[in-house]
Amino acid sequence: MRKHIGRGLTWVVAAVALAAVVVAQARPTYDLVIRGGRVFDGAGNPWVLADVAVRQDAIVAIGPGLAGKGQREIDARGLVVSPGFIDTHTHARRGIFQVPTADNYVRQGVTTIFEGPDGSSPLPLRPFLEKIAALGISPNWGMFVGQGSIREAVIGRADRKATPDEIATMKELVRAGMRDGAFGLSTGLFYVPGIFTPTDEVIALAAVAGGMGGMHVSHMRNEAAGILDSVRETIAVGEQGHMPTQITHHKIIGTKNWGRSVETLRLVAEARARGVDVTIDQYPYTASSTGINALLPPWALEGQQADVVARLRDSAQRAKIKQAIIDSLMYDRGGGDPKNVQIASCGWDPSLAGKNLTEITRARGAEPTMEHAAETVMWMVEQGGASGIFHAIDEADLERILQDPVTMIASDGEVPIFGRASPHPRSYGTFVRVLGRYVRERHVVTLADAVRKMTSFPARRVGLLDRGVLRPGMKADVAIWDADAIADKATYEQPHQYAVGVHTVIVNGQIVFENGKMTPARPGKVLYGPAYRAAQ
Ligand SMILES: [Zn+2]
Repeated sequence: MRKHIGRGLTWVVAAVALAAVVVAQARPTYDLVIRGGRVFDGAGNPWVLADVAVRQDAIVAIGPGLAGKGQREIDARGLVVSPGFIDTHTHARRGIFQVPTADNYVRQGVTTIFEGPDGSSPLPLRPFLEKIAALGISPNWGMFVGQGSIREAVIGRADRKATPDEIATMKELVRAGMRDGAFGLSTGLFYVPGIFTPTDEVIALAAVAGGMGGMHVSHMRNEAAGILDSVRETIAVGEQGHMPTQITHHKIIGTKNWGRSVETLRLVAEARARGVDVTIDQYPYTASSTGINALLPPWALEGQQADVVARLRDSAQRAKIKQAIIDSLMYDRGGGDPKNVQIASCGWDPSLAGKNLTEITRARGAEPTMEHAAETVMWMVEQGGASGIFHAIDEADLERILQDPVTMIASDGEVPIFGRASPHPRSYGTFVRVLGRYVRERHVVTLADAVRKMTSFPARRVGLLDRGVLRPGMKADVAIWDADAIADKATYEQPHQYAVGVHTVIVNGQIVFENGKMTPARPGKVLYGPAYRAAQ
């Protein structure tokens, strides 16, 4: 009997021990393990073969042949594993409320987007950021506060200097924007009303953001004939404002100015050599995109639409505006030919999207001369304007700027409604185009450097210290992609085409894209800038 009991106990002990082993094996060590990929850390280093383990929203281990199981395991053999891409210049508030998953960005491997560029942001920022948080989006979201929006709120769209009282009010709005979570001040000195801002006023406002740990990023006053002075001005803001400053979407517009990136990059290098913290961002296309009002001279754009239309109906002013548009078509954004100006979207006649100025001028019954094309532009502005795509950038300048070590990648895109209008393809293709066309096909930059320009560099630049690098302790924003296949499909003719070659995208530890599809997860977080964080 005793013997039997003893044997029975032995069995029980053995069974319990076995069960413990089974449980230990079944309980995953990690939430997610990405196995055997070519891991780029984002800092510019060559890839290493390694596994990447994630628990909750953070990377917890990286190394070859990691022991332990993931609740989910992804086989990344033959694929690149990199930090998710960080886009510091987007207009994503156009579309994010319709498409909170921001498919066009996520499908490129983008995991963080920044809004509020070109001097334009919602004011105040906090309620807007609360709306984004409540919406629930797939990528992370950060913001700049816009100098143009601030000036418009205080002075309107008037072409005049600010009074000392107005400057004090504007400084307070910069301070409020920084406290609400901005990463810095953006300027759009090309646009109304930024264009009416003297440099010393820009510096005074930017310095407020700088004093609170923020940076200045500028769509410069002029990207064509005035490019060198504009670069000098952007550098002066950093130098005299004692803060980081950035030339956004750097490009050289207009055939007569092509080649000047040699000089702009030299100005940047010289400034950095004397200690000015100046950097650049860029999108990889030879066309820009903005409102067709950009073809008009700034003085014609002061005030509201009614003021602009009134000038166009005054014959003397109309003649001056027309000549300025002709000059712009010849030497600036028009690139010397009306067919270089293509309509991206048009509220009052959506059928114009995708058509160019030559076609629209013909359709109105006129030969597409520069004069007639200028008439078409004025007619379109009178009807309410439109957004345009302008083919006037040289590939050699693009590649020279891309090669500069202080250039990062940023799209200047938006969140398109799939199939609607004819937006610039940069919204769908910026990051994957760099990796496909400019790394794989044209060898303009190395893969490791391109990844750096999309990850650790923008993260470091805006002061995001827990993203942009794959390292234990960092947030798990990860892109898994095929370096041999990654490419942009969106074209100027057929923009609504998603990127190819991206395998899986992870935001804050959650998979947002896999098997060619967006998942229902919306783990994107609102990211707050330095002054907000310091106050917590
Ligand atoms: Zn811009």
